[in-house]
Amino acid sequence: MSIRVQALTKVYGAQNAVDGISFSAEPGVLGFLGPNGAGKSTTMKILTGFIPQTSGEATVCGFDVVTQSLEVRRRIGYLPESNPLYTDMYVKESLGFIAGIHQLHDPHKRIAEVIEQTGLGPEQHKKIGQLSKGYRQRVGLAQAILHNPDVLILDEPTSGLDPNQLIGIRQLIQELGKSKTIILSTHIMQEVEAVCSKVIIINRGKIVADDTLTGLRGKNNNDPLEQIFISLTAN
Ligand code: ADP
Repeated sequence: MSIRVQALTKVYGAQNAVDGISFSAEPGVLGFLGPNGAGKSTTMKILTGFIPQTSGEATVCGFDVVTQSLEVRRRIGYLPESNPLYTDMYVKESLGFIAGIHQLHDPHKRIAEVIEQTGLGPEQHKKIGQLSKGYRQRVGLAQAILHNPDVLILDEPTSGLDPNQLIGIRQLIQELGKSKTIILSTHIMQEVEAVCSKVIIINRGKIVADDTLTGLRGKNNNDPLEQIFISLTAN
């Protein structure tokens, strides 16, 4: 199992942002859904080693996210919601910088592969600050997959993109999901239907659904996913 989470809890002050959740994930795209404030980003930050949990356990490829954080970081790629990028850097330069951090053996070859894979070719000689939002998302994704991680954590990677950009990024996520374990947070139900094999819905820090897309529909009168989401997260 690529990701295993057991009784994971995160308390900020008096607030249980994540409240004893357990789930696992294997290769494929897992949709991680929930209203704003449900605890999705907090869970993702714990999995990627950015913040520690209050209690419970999480492993990535068998490595504990707290005690074996370096091993975890080698195997995980993360595109945070805000997609922080160095806007003064050129696309290739920024990928070279990330390749250096990962100490890749043949950075030029790998950077060329990733530029091809993410469709950054036409924009590769520009500064990041000159790119459209869609291309910036591609740079964020390129950085996240550069070290060829087995697990990818993508926090709302398609928010704010136009329909053409959306399709490109979705196709890329789908392609990557053939070999990698991807946790994808999104508010777009069409996107979940297009790319996810499994779905977890989280509400107020607790998991309210963990199923395949077909299983979830079957248990809910085959209602549209949006309606299922609303009924499970209404309170
Ligand atoms: P989501 O990603 O589902 O929108 P978050 O994980 O960002 O949810 O937030 C879960 C809850 O934890 C929210 O109520 C949010 O206000 C709170 N929260 C998130 N980060 C912090 C923080 N650094 N300090 C205090 N509360 C936080």
